[in-house]
Amino acid sequence: LPQRVRRAVLRGRVRVVYQPLVRLRDNYMLGVEALVRLNIGRGKGRGREVSPDIFIPIAEQHGFITLVTKQVIHGALAEMRDRLTSDAPFYISINLSAEDLTDPEVRAFLDRETVRHDIDRARVSLELTERSTVEETELVRCVRHFRDGGYSMCLDDFGTGYSGFAYLSKLPIFCIKIDKMFTDTIGLDGADTTLFDNMMDIARKLGFKVVVEGVTKAEQVPYILAANPEAIGQGYLFGKPMTARELADWEAGRAPL
Ligand code: C2E
Ligand code: MG
Ligand code: MG
Repeated sequence: LPQRVRRAVLRGRVRVVYQPLVRLRDNYMLGVEALVRLNIGRGKGRGREVSPDIFIPIAEQHGFITLVTKQVIHGALAEMRDRLTSDAPFYISINLSAEDLTDPEVRAFLDRETVRHDIDRARVSLELTERSTVEETELVRCVRHFRDGGYSMCLDDFGTGYSGFAYLSKLPIFCIKIDKMFTDTIGLDGADTTLFDNMMDIARKLGFKVVVEGVTKAEQVPYILAANPEAIGQGYLFGKPMTARELADWEAGRAPL
């Protein structure tokens, strides 16, 4: 599998899909998260789709994750360019692996691509996972470096790692994303929402924006809004990851408020 994944990446078979990030209080799409897709089939058209949960770790372990990341950046900024340069608020969120964060080539690539498309870097959010293997002080330094370059930094999969309050307060991020496993406890009879509640509380105390991942039920929305009126939701309730064209259709077909 690693060989086939590498070959597909080298052949430029990386694609990007987009999942809406929706401001819950008014159902407004504030942005999208770019999510990578890869087909390792031999022929054109039909083939074998591999989940990012499988091939991202492979790319990380075999030392070609930055190649994947650069293709995602390249595709996403080109496809979302019009929205990212329009007056309406809209941002793109891109996932970075630990290796990307420390590789000067990735940063240089982002800088070039944002200049080329004339995109304001504050509208590019970079997600780093809380499970990152980069050592704490080094991670803080890297995040600050990107932040100083104008990018918005975001902590993904919050709650699945071990960030303490003191460490979080040192991270120059603007937003945290609460993992789906905690969202799932809302609106489920008998499930304990304590962890979710605590995370919302930490975000509020530290002044972070909050994206709640994996929102699947309408009943979850008022609960989230009660904890944070500015919360952003992401999940199948609003939209699955879509191609750029599907996203445009999805938006056109959305019922007005
Ligand atoms: P993530 O960054 O936490 O992305 C959210 C994942 O949750 C996506 O899975 C998305 O499709 C899924 N999701 C969103 N809403 C729902 C929902 O309501 N229900 C369910 N069951 N799932 C939902 P996906 O696209 O398979 O990506 C999985 C993971 O792979 C991502 O988790 C991220 O860690 C990684 N990944 C994806 N694209 C990239 C990329 O371009 N670079 C890197 N380094 N990692 C990526
Ligand atoms: Mg993410
Ligand atoms: Mg996540």
